[in-house]
Amino acid sequence: MSDLNAFITETEVAGTDEGPLSDTRVAVKDNISTEGVRTTCGSKMLADYVPPYDATVVSRLKEAGATVVGKSNMDEFGMGTTTETSAFGPAKNPVDTDRVPGGSSGGSAAAVAAGEADLALGSDTGGSIRCPAAFCGVVGIKPTYGLVSRYGLVAYANSLEQIGPIAPTVAEAAALLDVLAGSDPRDSTTVDAGDGSDYAAAADGDVDGLTLGVPTELVDGADEAVVETFWDAVSALESRGATYEEVSLESIEHALAAYYVIAMSEASSNLARFDGVRYGHASGDGNWNEAFAETREEGFGAEVKRRILLGTYALSAGYHDKYYKKAQDARAWVRRDFESVFEDVDLVASPTMPVLPPKLGESLDDPLQLYLMDANTVPVNLANLPAISVPAGTAEGLPVGLQLIAPKFDEATMIRAASAVES
Ligand code: GLN
Repeated sequence: MSDLNAFITETEVAGTDEGPLSDTRVAVKDNISTEGVRTTCGSKMLADYVPPYDATVVSRLKEAGATVVGKSNMDEFGMGTTTETSAFGPAKNPVDTDRVPGGSSGGSAAAVAAGEADLALGSDTGGSIRCPAAFCGVVGIKPTYGLVSRYGLVAYANSLEQIGPIAPTVAEAAALLDVLAGSDPRDSTTVDAGDGSDYAAAADGDVDGLTLGVPTELVDGADEAVVETFWDAVSALESRGATYEEVSLESIEHALAAYYVIAMSEASSNLARFDGVRYGHASGDGNWNEAFAETREEGFGAEVKRRILLGTYALSAGYHDKYYKKAQDARAWVRRDFESVFEDVDLVASPTMPVLPPKLGESLDDPLQLYLMDANTVPVNLANLPAISVPAGTAEGLPVGLQLIAPKFDEATMIRAASAVES
């Protein structure tokens, strides 16, 4: 297709003839299983892996009439914020091809922003739908944990992640969420809150009487240009009848550390299956330990190895209480903080990303700097809440995203407010 490198595999799998998504081209992130179409997770480890079944969300797309046009590029196993850790080369941002599209669902957002797909699926463990949506100037929704089935999603950190829609407009993202949402007997963490939903109808732009909470902690650290665009969007909502107040989430300063300890710990366990026997690229013909080590040495990239090592360390006997348990305590604190803020406000608003999209190659050398970019998105996953990123305008010619966070299963309210930002 184009030189954006948005797709790892191009395909054309048509759905049923009639449905709400007939004549719609959908890109599917390459960590979501597609029957007969290779699913690499952006990794050399799975470069030749062809799943024998569809993820539940893919079955639902097909039943709704959608055509799957490709498997979109991503950071390896979802570990990254720029799509540069992909073993298939980085994707580019269609707004400025010298810049990253964000990550880890960068291929999905780039494809939608460039019109190479009408809609896309991403997955969001700590921001991977919202970040690329913000950087590419499109809409992304991270649903409440349990609203959308994870059956067929290759796990990175399963207690944090959800599949969700990326689309040009709020109404289209909401309509896609209607197709995806709902309980699934194959994923026991799903609930029936989305069964028979009508999120598309919520995109009516009516924010009269709505109250927004703006956590100072999520605005103070952001770039000036981003903050200015953020406040313009809040003012626009005010002019349509919403009010805002500043709120404080004291636990937030610990969210990033807690997120990375939990995500890496879960990753170290989830990625153990890639041993060349059960799954993955096989190498070595010596004893099992050597073959296992060689397979993983060759199959995984540097960022994935770093996280498996750190996660294994955090879970090891003697350190478990010091790191993993502390991180779980912080996670519970973040959840309680949000609960008490939602006693006073309907939605929490912040910039989606504290920075503008970086240039390609700029951020890879410094993993810590990259982790810091996730400061505003990871608290949402720790608390299992829904959030949307909607284009708020531009700064220095680059897109800025507004993040709206809602109480659990109140997707409709955040969709309503996001549609007001758009108009
Ligand atoms: N950037 C975050 C990470 O690397 C989030 C990734 C994601 O949501 N998959 O963990």
